[in-house]
Amino acid sequence: MLVKSFGAAVFGIDATIITIEVNLAQGINFFLVGLPDAAVKESQQRIKAALTNNELRYPGKEITVNMAPADIRKEGSTFDLPIAIGILAASDQANASRLNEYMLLGELSLDGDVKAMTGILPIALAAKEHGFKGIIIPAENAHEAIMVKDIEIIPVKTLKEVIQFLDDPSSIESLAEDSIVTSNSNEIYDIDFSDVKGQDNIKRAFEISAAGGHNLILIGPPGAGKSMLAKRLPTILPSMSMPEALETTKIHSVVGKLAKGQPLVMQRPFRKPHHTISDVALVGGGSYPQPGEISLAHNGVLFLDELPEYKRTVLEVMRQPMEDRMVTISRAKFTIDYPAGFMLVAAMNPCPCGYHNHPERECTCGSGVVQRYLNKVSGPLLDRIDLHVEVTPVSYNELRDNRKEESSASIRERVLIARNIQRNRFQSEHEQIERSDTRKLEQSVNANSDMSSRQVRKYCQLDEACANILKKAMERFGFSARAYDRILKVARTIADLNGTENIGVGDIAEAVQYRSLDRKEWGN
Ligand SMILES: [Zn+2]
Repeated sequence: MLVKSFGAAVFGIDATIITIEVNLAQGINFFLVGLPDAAVKESQQRIKAALTNNELRYPGKEITVNMAPADIRKEGSTFDLPIAIGILAASDQANASRLNEYMLLGELSLDGDVKAMTGILPIALAAKEHGFKGIIIPAENAHEAIMVKDIEIIPVKTLKEVIQFLDDPSSIESLAEDSIVTSNSNEIYDIDFSDVKGQDNIKRAFEISAAGGHNLILIGPPGAGKSMLAKRLPTILPSMSMPEALETTKIHSVVGKLAKGQPLVMQRPFRKPHHTISDVALVGGGSYPQPGEISLAHNGVLFLDELPEYKRTVLEVMRQPMEDRMVTISRAKFTIDYPAGFMLVAAMNPCPCGYHNHPERECTCGSGVVQRYLNKVSGPLLDRIDLHVEVTPVSYNELRDNRKEESSASIRERVLIARNIQRNRFQSEHEQIERSDTRKLEQSVNANSDMSSRQVRKYCQLDEACANILKKAMERFGFSARAYDRILKVARTIADLNGTENIGVGDIAEAVQYRSLDRKEWGN
């Protein structure tokens, strides 16, 4: 007898439907065909044990399991359940009549428990897209599918429950959205810029960064609060849209990093990988490709503390993904794309001893040491950072001051207005991109920081007074040509925050301040 069941394979952050055909014939062999990996091949042993431990019969026949489409590699152990049910249905121990309506997923333990798995969200989305009535998935993380509407989510703990459900669908109730606590907590971060005493100039830099999507580097001595400031950037960024939240959640679902009771990531991620991180852990990859930290930070913030401590190769592998807002992992037979659109916040000491340019303390680094230290971070990555911000420790007076600090929500209001101006500005450019070319559209300019040189010339025109100020600054500080465009982009964002159409003298003067590392005197 031939029986068909359905499972799914996650590829990148999307799932593909896998058809599983089980055929029983005379004989005693077990054949598994259709590009299964080692873990899938081992399913026979697990299924055999799970069946016999549940007083079910493992058929004494020749069993052929065919997984299609044949050109997709089937990885992992989540095909245990559709294969087991296929075998049971083919041997008249399970009801086959609903197998075309429900997708089945889950690894079986030897005693027949259905174990938790990763990638539930993309699988549920694929099941819905293909018109399945429901998905039968491990109870432990079934909540991850709850955001997908109009599809039954059947949580199961054991193989026996699955058999019972196929016989009588009323035996298990589909999960409903209200069955879990979805506090509307997207606005609530447990940290806020109002926690930060003083440091108004640095908060201002963060506001500009959030408004124009500008990457930022914090330069300051140990203990100046760089990390404390950086993790508050998500609190002033616009709330995530539903498509953004879904895409970020899919990535976290694929690596099994979704928190319990949180079916949708609504807070922008803040990822802080340690400087000892490997290339693969940072950008993704591995023999079973997985998204890396830059993808986990998608739609949020990636924070690299102690930037000069990272291996140079690690920083170099980030260059292309930062350009593309996506990382492409190539293997002999396939390539996988993971989204990687994040804002970068880096931090570093000004020099190895930490006190270069410090108002009160003496730098003890020898001549040339500071320059060598700086050279470690210069190059491709620094080229993508628009704002250089010098952080000094909070002064005693600021600490004592009882003044009420501005909240993140209040800063975010100004950020949103500036973002709106940018959206309108670049709208016409979007319309010129063919609708079919979605990848290009995704990469299209949404914020001032993404402007091409052509767009900088178009949208950042300077009057004579501004041009003069910039020229003088370029000469005085010895700025390189690469600094020029960055200053213009940042000045554009400052003008947007001010709500002015043209860049003014004050905007340019402020933007010039954010190029510390480009100044000639640095390191001399
Ligand atoms: Zn020093």
